[in-house]
Amino acid sequence: EVAVNRIAAGEVVERPASAVKELIENALDAGATRIELCVKDGGKTLIRVTDDGHGIPAQDLPLALSRHATSKIDGTDLLNIHTFGFRGEALPSMAAVGRMTITSRIAGQDAAQIVVDGGAMGAVTPAALTKGTVVELRNLFYATPARLKFLRTDRAEMGAIADVVKKLAMAEPYVGFTIRDLSRDDKGRVTFRADAQSGDMFDALSGRLRSILGAEFADNALAIDAERDGVTLTGYAALPTYSRGNSISQFLFVNGRPVRDKLLVGALRGAYSDFLSRDRHPVVALFLELEPTKVDVNVHPAKAEVRFRDPGTARGLIVSALKHALADAGH
Ligand code: ADP
Ligand code: MG
Repeated sequence: EVAVNRIAAGEVVERPASAVKELIENALDAGATRIELCVKDGGKTLIRVTDDGHGIPAQDLPLALSRHATSKIDGTDLLNIHTFGFRGEALPSMAAVGRMTITSRIAGQDAAQIVVDGGAMGAVTPAALTKGTVVELRNLFYATPARLKFLRTDRAEMGAIADVVKKLAMAEPYVGFTIRDLSRDDKGRVTFRADAQSGDMFDALSGRLRSILGAEFADNALAIDAERDGVTLTGYAALPTYSRGNSISQFLFVNGRPVRDKLLVGALRGAYSDFLSRDRHPVVALFLELEPTKVDVNVHPAKAEVRFRDPGTARGLIVSALKHALADAGH
């Protein structure tokens, strides 16, 4: 069982940033409104995610750490998934390659804690916590030196962690996010902070993008709000004057999940082709929403590819919506 989990860990948790992604997605699935991430040494020695979500019942703590145990689907409707998680693989995989402590409290119960060290699960014990869940992962990959060797510098791993958090923060503007770096001392230094936004979707997103991408983006962005054949496209796209030499600042989401996808990047290029040369890329934060049955965003657990059942609709919608918005803005 431990060996199986260690192999699976390579699939789900390639590096600290993938562990952070899984833990924050779990917090979001639990309805958290505030999420704090503490990291030490680029996540190699400590990753701790604290949320104010609905918590895990004490009696379910061992179950949450069992392979293929998920509370999110019953197995009958695999095509219709509305949560980030549904495989029940992340927690057991991470617990197999480090020391994991989960402390949690649901309404009406006392807090409880469980520790898993290198895959060996301890007993559920009483703990102190007012609300939500704290998942702490220590010494990730120290039990698998071959994998540890492949990690990059603390700085590089920290950068990858910040990227993951920023993308999730863009997709969830009503949730407050903080990253604290504990490398120097236990009090830590806040390296990223995005306060919970309020108001309608565009207000919330615009406020969130201002704090992540900066005022210059916000001041040069067009609001996008379009629909075609049941597919909607919302978000902000920069004027051609605000472009970059790479596509790193193109943030694309499908049903709330950050994706990297050739088809979508190609659609963006098409939309701006009259204004930008091929080596310039507009900064965008765009959200495609469509029925979960019409898209597969889970081709590989750790990758961010998408497969559309009808790629033409998604592409056509992006090109026409952005061209219209640019034309309306006088381009
Ligand atoms: P999945 O997210 O695919 O269900 P995970 O291994 O990530 O699988 O988590 C297993 C289970 O543990 C979840 O289904 C959920 O019930 C519970 N869980 C994990 N993290 C949290 C959290 N932060 N708050 C509440 N429940 C959680
Ligand atoms: Mg999960």
